[in-house]
Amino acid sequence: KIYYDADANLDVLKDKTIVFLGFGNQGAAQAQNLRDTGIPNDKIIIANRPDHYAEDAKSKGFNVEHDFAKAAKAADVIFLLIPDQVQPRVFNNEIAPNLKDNATIVVASGYNVFYKLLNFKPSQDVVMVAPRMIGSSVRSLYTKGKGFPCFVSVEQDGTGKALETALALSRAIGATKAGAIASSAREETAMDLFAEQALWPNIIMLFREAFSVLKEAGCSDEALCYEMWMSKEPAEIFERAAEDGFIQQLKHHSTVSQYGQLSGALALDGTATREHFKNILYNQVLNGKFCQEFSKIEDDLEKEGDANPLNVLYQKSEASELGQAEKRVRARLAGLLSRN
Ligand code: NDP
Repeated sequence: KIYYDADANLDVLKDKTIVFLGFGNQGAAQAQNLRDTGIPNDKIIIANRPDHYAEDAKSKGFNVEHDFAKAAKAADVIFLLIPDQVQPRVFNNEIAPNLKDNATIVVASGYNVFYKLLNFKPSQDVVMVAPRMIGSSVRSLYTKGKGFPCFVSVEQDGTGKALETALALSRAIGATKAGAIASSAREETAMDLFAEQALWPNIIMLFREAFSVLKEAGCSDEALCYEMWMSKEPAEIFERAAEDGFIQQLKHHSTVSQYGQLSGALALDGTATREHFKNILYNQVLNGKFCQEFSKIEDDLEKEGDANPLNVLYQKSEASELGQAEKRVRARLAGLLSRN
């Protein structure tokens, strides 16, 4: 099901106090869109620690509250727009104990709801309004009078009116203009984590192995880096895929290329990959195994140097032939650029 502006009634939001927890990528964009749709400024509160995000909100004329408990007490609706990994701690400790029994909690990602990491009261509404766009595009498309793709769902209907509130909020941030797709926290989380843990790791591996095979065959670092990604050809292919169709975009390529790609892909047996993908989806994503493991290392992600597991993963990945070659190419290019 796809919801459009006509399915949403903005009157549902009349007299409601709407709090945005966070004024980052999504918070800044969604709060400005909502205000420009006509929600009065005195009904909007930005809850943020006193720093540059708070200053940015003030400079844009918003009412800013540094005391999260106070903001939570005032909220009829609260958008959770701080990073996913800090939401459980901040929400459960500072927001949840102060929220009204009939408050609406809005998430922009399914992760914490699907894995049940946030403590809601059964009487509260929990909805997902998840733009499929970075915050700056959520804002710029809105200002151009255009919509953006968005998933919407009701995860808990404490008041019996969660869907109408979710649709009104979606419309207010500009998400129903181009059509908001009915989804769920489970679907959004499954697709997101599957792409991150199955699809893209395979793409990274394919590029890494392709690089090594071609390098061994005598291709230069420069030629390979440009041929494979620095020319931005892959980005262009995906743009064409979005516009013309995943398969139909091939028609922009040479006949030799079309024949090679289509016959090559059909000749590949995907059985082992399908099993590998299923294993990740069922035994890592949907059963919560990744979430449990990630929560154990979450605090280490704030650390410096090798104590931070993400830094170690970067070091290992950059040690690959592709990583090393790209470093050399970029260093040579930087030299060239500075001479010109
Ligand atoms: P950001 O990283 O931009 O969030 C920054 C905001 O979070 C700032 O206001 C920051 O303020 C606040 N913040 C950070 N750490 C803390 C903390 N420990 N306590 C309180 N506030 C904190 O987040 P995004 O906008 O990227 O993501 C928000 C939500 O939107 C997430 O659920 C994400 O999955 C979802 N989403 C994001 C998209 C994107 O384009 N980035 C796309 C679609 C959905 P300060 O540091 O001052 O406290």
